[in-house]
Amino acid sequence: MQYLYGPIKSRRLGVSLGINLTLPKTCSFDCLYCQIGKTGNLTLSRSEYVKISQIIEELKEWIDNGKNDLSCLDYITLSGSGEPMLNSGIGELIAYLKGLSNAKIALITNASLLYEASLRKEISKADLIVPSLDAVTQELFVKIDRPHKGLRIEDIIEGLISLRREFKGKIWLEVMLVKGVNDDIRHIRKLKEVIERINPDKIQLNSPVRTASEAGILSVSRPKLKKIANILGEKAEIV
Ligand code: SF4
Repeated sequence: MQYLYGPIKSRRLGVSLGINLTLPKTCSFDCLYCQIGKTGNLTLSRSEYVKISQIIEELKEWIDNGKNDLSCLDYITLSGSGEPMLNSGIGELIAYLKGLSNAKIALITNASLLYEASLRKEISKADLIVPSLDAVTQELFVKIDRPHKGLRIEDIIEGLISLRREFKGKIWLEVMLVKGVNDDIRHIRKLKEVIERINPDKIQLNSPVRTASEAGILSVSRPKLKKIANILGEKAEIV
């Protein structure tokens, strides 16, 4: 299979089948901690980087295989090698998947394109959106996420606030914390103010544990993660 992976069992999503919408890696960020490696195609241009018809073909093969059963899935997860919202067919794919099974649709996104109202509408039929927000100042945003030069963190934050206002499903905001980069307590307090404006259902704190894009990327210690979770309040959990 080229575009499907799993099913994977995880504490967060139960049994989920992943779909990769951007191959090879195509992203609007080039995060320090990315496990996939450097972003070859750093872009804000949307395109069918993977043809939706090919994904649907692969799904049909997966179902026809006889060993697979959609009813065993808790989620079908849209993510993969880069930013899935850069695939211009994502709305069409979500509509197709909703008609295919009762599995919920989860979208894992870096939130970079959520400032566009038309795009928020395209993904509105998902059940769960897991956007990331690693920094709330432009300086730190550039340092940790190394975004496309056309992106401003204020616009992304406004996009997340609009998403919360419009989206009927759940939003679990993920924050990736890198030691010495974005884990300073003054930054965490600013992050808290912004997260209160976004008002997600959950705040999920993460820290890199596997090979990152750059050498020397360090995890935040468990005690510090707990301290940060306490500052962010009862919606925060360490994943
Ligand atoms: S947004 Fe995700 S895929 Fe893109 S560079 Fe960052 S970690 Fe990697």
